Amino acid sequence: MEENKKMVSKLIARGVLRTESIIKAFENVDRKDFCVDEHKELAYIDRPLPILAEQTISQPTTVALMTEAIRPSKGDNVLEIGAGSGYQAAILAEIVKPGKVYTIERIEELAKFAENNLKEYTNVEIIHGDGSKGLEEKAPFDCIIVTAGAPKVPEVLKKQLNVNGRLILPVGKNTYTQRMKLIINKKEGFEEIDLGSFAFVPLIGKHGFKNN
Ligand code: SAH
Repeated sequence: MEENKKMVSKLIARGVLRTESIIKAFENVDRKDFCVDEHKELAYIDRPLPILAEQTISQPTTVALMTEAIRPSKGDNVLEIGAGSGYQAAILAEIVKPGKVYTIERIEELAKFAENNLKEYTNVEIIHGDGSKGLEEKAPFDCIIVTAGAPKVPEVLKKQLNVNGRLILPVGKNTYTQRMKLIINKKEGFEEIDLGSFAFVPLIGKHGFKNN
């Protein structure tokens, strides 16, 4: 946990983490608990790490940047697409509790891994399935975070945003490099902000890349 705190201090020093409630969440969630055994010793370096089924837990800097960008706050209703290890969901759950975090994962083995890592979080629900369609029955959401790269912004996700709701996702035609897009559902229309270049595993599904 001491080392986790050091990792957080570095993110603060670099200006990536800024908001008090988000900093607290990063301090309370030990990244090591979300890494697979063979990579636990690398848990605090600023890199993505392999988990299961050729997927990765995102780099701490990226998790921090995406979390800050969607401005989550207490009581928010949140959707994550791409549960992976459950690390990002745990961070969000700490910030929004008693608000809920729904996190969808398409690979069953990973949905189980995330579920196991998130057992103590009563405000997180893990769903096994295709998240590219969103989660109509629990919409509207204050925050939607997609942690896999989409070929384009799925319109269906924009429709599941609350007024002033925030959607963040990496977008790119090329499977492994994307531009991070923040989309805000303003009264006067959707505002789209580009947050730079990133590399994510692909979003595979109805509104993602096709699985061939
Ligand atoms: N947020 C995760 C990292 C996710 S990596 C963490 O904190 O560890 C991206 C994940 O998205 C992978 O586990 C991948 O299986 C999943 N994924 C890809 N396409 C998906 C889809 N259509 N629906 C749900 N999950 C998807």
